[in-house]
Amino acid sequence: PLRVRYAPSPTGHLHIGGARTALFDYLLARRHGGAFVVRFEDTDQTRHKESGIADQLNGLRWLGLEWDESVDIGGPYGPYRQMERLDIYKTYVDQLIRDGHAYHCYCSEEDLEQERAEQEARGEMGGYSGRCRNLTPEQAAAFQAEGRIPSTRFRVPENRIIAFKDKVREHVEFDSNGIGDFIIARPDGIPTYNFAVIVDDHLMKINLVIRGEEHLSNTPRQILMYEALGLPIPEFAHLALILNQDRKKMSKRDESIIQFIEQYKELGYLPEAVVNFIALLGWSPGGEEEIFTKEELIAQFDLDRVSKSPAVFDMDKLNWMNNHYLKKAPLSRIVELCVSHLQKAGYIQGEPDAAAQEWVSALVGLNQERMRYAAEIVELSSLFFQEELVIDEEAAAVLKEEHVPAVLSSFLGQVEQAEAFTAEAIPALLKQVQKDTGFKGKQLFMSIRSACTGQVHGPDLNMSLYLLGKEKVASRLRNLL
Ligand code: GLU
Repeated sequence: PLRVRYAPSPTGHLHIGGARTALFDYLLARRHGGAFVVRFEDTDQTRHKESGIADQLNGLRWLGLEWDESVDIGGPYGPYRQMERLDIYKTYVDQLIRDGHAYHCYCSEEDLEQERAEQEARGEMGGYSGRCRNLTPEQAAAFQAEGRIPSTRFRVPENRIIAFKDKVREHVEFDSNGIGDFIIARPDGIPTYNFAVIVDDHLMKINLVIRGEEHLSNTPRQILMYEALGLPIPEFAHLALILNQDRKKMSKRDESIIQFIEQYKELGYLPEAVVNFIALLGWSPGGEEEIFTKEELIAQFDLDRVSKSPAVFDMDKLNWMNNHYLKKAPLSRIVELCVSHLQKAGYIQGEPDAAAQEWVSALVGLNQERMRYAAEIVELSSLFFQEELVIDEEAAAVLKEEHVPAVLSSFLGQVEQAEAFTAEAIPALLKQVQKDTGFKGKQLFMSIRSACTGQVHGPDLNMSLYLLGKEKVASRLRNLL
């Protein structure tokens, strides 16, 4: 059975690139009845962040990518956090040393720094020179006597072409001469990523490794270690980069795209929309259709249709897609998302009571069609919260027309004596104004809209008047008259 894993370093929130890897893992695991493992690669303690594990899992959970094995629920091949597996790595390091595939290196940071500087001066690019590769026992003893604690390096074989078939990139090959002997365990015994990853992928029976293209050059190193340990090599799929809107490599500070899943959640995107959007970052189903439920993605997703070339993040498409899902979602769900934004903006205080709830539902319902994400409700509805009416140029022009005073004063009369000022009751009031003044259509509606909202365009007039409420409507009319 297929076993795939998402193996983040817990350095912070779930990033869009990681989310895509996790999604592709998840879809394939579900499609083929396999297992989706989430393992934490926390051996680089300098980059480690304590909340990182929870942050990553929360992001996955919000997206609805349920995992089968991980730190929280366990599983048959745990622990699922590398710092809890240090004993395991040690046996494999020992095996590599015993078989001559790895050796102790006593070079200090300063030694290596100097070596790099000398290489650079000669115009060379190489990695580690291999000075500790063939130390005699006496040389090693001398270093030890100096108190040096060694790291462990993998002995990269010379003159080898390491070739593999990648499920996305197809044929890939590297020359081993371009790979210096690399560190697999630091002086404190903690393994490096490249080493820990193969031990874990092996012991966790991972048979397909999906990850970002930035790891492509790690793969030959990992293959050499699988070979040296006599272990089967999993299949690989390296996903092309996600570029920002300017088709450039995104940086952590890039604000033209939304990078972290947490931000999507905060802005009021729907998880099903985000999943749909991310699935299309590199994968295309072939036809014209772009809207896919998770179930449809599971049924159709395939690495064969994942592109070798970079995916470009398209904000308009994201917003279009989210709007599509928002329009279809039950109003109550959108209301819930919007309420928190209205609270944050200070537009509503505390939990709305039944009447306020009804009012907010109407407000959100009025905007559901055009909202791209829930946070937009604040901007879209500011009209209904402003105390002062701001009249724009077009509305001001309308209000100068001759028939306006008659229409407004008649409407004010209707409003003042109205018992119910609901969206259902308002059309009758407008009808009465029409009867009393003889003005109808545009002359009637535009004057009232301009007077009450300060704009000539806007959502449904009856609804808008109801949302403004009797007091505001009456006082705006009075002020103008
Ligand atoms: N811990 C690595 C990362 O965060 C995982 C790479 C891999 O999937 O092998 O990029």
